[in-house]
Amino acid sequence: MSAATPKPLPEHEHTAVKTHALAQRRGVPYEVERTTCVACRRVLGERRLRRAAA
Ligand SMILES: [Zn+2]
Repeated sequence: MSAATPKPLPEHEHTAVKTHALAQRRGVPYEVERTTCVACRRVLGERRLRRAAA
């Protein structure tokens, strides 16, 4: 095997999974929903949800 050279995966059908994460902006916590592909780890989308409850 050769050295790890990151190369783009061949075209594939993204397997999207949604993950929730907590982020903070200007001291205000909010929740984001990220859609990422489990195969290539690419972030397919990000959506900000309502502010996280205290
Ligand atoms: Zn993918």
